[in-house]
Amino acid sequence: MSQGMVVLVGAGPGDPGLITRRGESILRRAEVLVYDHLVSHELIRLAPASAKRIYVGKSRGHHEMSQSQINQVLCDEAKAGHFVVRLKGGDPFVFGRGAEEAEVLFEAGIPFRIVPGVTAGIGALAYAGLPVTHREYASSVTFVTGHDDPDLPQCRADWPLLAKFHGTIVVYMGVTRLCRIAQVLIQHGKSPDTPVAMVERGSWPGQKVAVSSLREVADPQVALPVKPPALVMIGEVVHSQSKLDWWSRLPLAGQTVLMTRPESETHEDVEQLEENGAEVLLAPTITVRPADDPTELDSSISKLNEFDWLVFTSANGVRFFIERIFQLGKDLRVLGHIRLAAIGPATTQALKKFGLNADLVPTKYQSEDLARLLAEHVQGKSVLMARANRGRTILKDQLSGIARQVVQVTAYNNADSLAFDEDILDRLRLGTIDWVTLTSSAIARRFISMLPDDFQIEKLQKIKFASISAITSASAREVGIEPVVEAQEGSFEGLFKAIVSYQMNDKSKATV
Ligand code: SAH
Repeated sequence: MSQGMVVLVGAGPGDPGLITRRGESILRRAEVLVYDHLVSHELIRLAPASAKRIYVGKSRGHHEMSQSQINQVLCDEAKAGHFVVRLKGGDPFVFGRGAEEAEVLFEAGIPFRIVPGVTAGIGALAYAGLPVTHREYASSVTFVTGHDDPDLPQCRADWPLLAKFHGTIVVYMGVTRLCRIAQVLIQHGKSPDTPVAMVERGSWPGQKVAVSSLREVADPQVALPVKPPALVMIGEVVHSQSKLDWWSRLPLAGQTVLMTRPESETHEDVEQLEENGAEVLLAPTITVRPADDPTELDSSISKLNEFDWLVFTSANGVRFFIERIFQLGKDLRVLGHIRLAAIGPATTQALKKFGLNADLVPTKYQSEDLARLLAEHVQGKSVLMARANRGRTILKDQLSGIARQVVQVTAYNNADSLAFDEDILDRLRLGTIDWVTLTSSAIARRFISMLPDDFQIEKLQKIKFASISAITSASAREVGIEPVVEAQEGSFEGLFKAIVSYQMNDKSKATV
């Protein structure tokens, strides 16, 4: 059997976009993925579906596996011939015991590689607007663990020495002992006025930042505003935070948005929300999958030469229709003669991804407008419409009298999701979800019917519902939901703009 190997990959401090290019490409090739508590689910998802995923825990106080067990897993999986990715929070060699793991591999004669990552002490702090050096305030920095009791002789950090250090002190794993650490620093000569910043879950959607002073955190009466995982920064650089705090100024910072549409449609939308500071939760109320019986679809694909127009009313329609063309061993030349109509920008974009331009897109993205516009072009022509197994039939109804023939074909199936995940329900109950997106009438109805019978509907009162169109808003009202914003343009982009403009308004009101 060929021998496997282990790659220790740094995942970065939290935001999945902060992994390195090499880290990502290695992750995509993992046969076995061994990961910790502080690693984003989005990164875990990058590994192939076939990869064996082993969670080894390590949240404070809840060690799922001891370090020696972890070492054993790495050795066993590599010896079994696998390509093992050991994904670790931040950088594997900064307080992550990556060095110990690599030493064990060395002793066992197992080949290993290291892919560095952005350590939290730099990356998480940067998201909080905290530079570790600054020409005015600090020309050196030290990373230190606050894990040990400073009063014990075996404490690994030399706090009395650090009291004399003029650079920036970045403390990992230090919040629970911060009070004593601050006392020792003051006792050994550090000014009690030295500013202190605390950053909880930096670069994660729920990041929290607090600024204080050594004097204040040394007072045992003062409750700390953050909890682990958090970093503490001690030093004059903290003064620059008020200017550099870019993240909390993002329009959606601190807002949690629940996305209810099928997961396959959300990737870029999620990114847009996250880049604007939101935490995004996925709770698809509807799932999409290929048509159960593709006979009808296959036959329309084989007869494409009989049609003049091909109409798409969703990005999924485009995706499933074109993928089926490929699955049948054909290519896009079968569409060469056909004119393409798309209901809106997302559908147009989906066509673009296959190198196709839409010939016709209405200015308002609704079936009525598409029907009106098509009516001008399809007289006496043959029209094929690729759609979901269910949906409005308005296009067919309105064009039937005008076109020579209108054929509707099911390109994919919409199916209701059965239930929300328990953690989504918990958050709905706790009221820690700010926004819920409603991107179709079916989704609005499904959202309500997916709530369990014992769910107290008053819990939804604090949620801001964002509706994609007037039609969706009307359906939402029918099930008791009053949207606070409605997109001016019936696209996710329109919905996003409506949410942002609401939040900006809210923020400016808060600062008046
Ligand atoms: N190897 C990691 C550090 C592991 S030690 C790295 O290079 O970042 C774990 C500690 O790192 C936590 O207790 C906390 O102090 C800090 N930490 C990790 N991620 C963090 C984050 N996103 N925000 C704040 N602190 C974080």
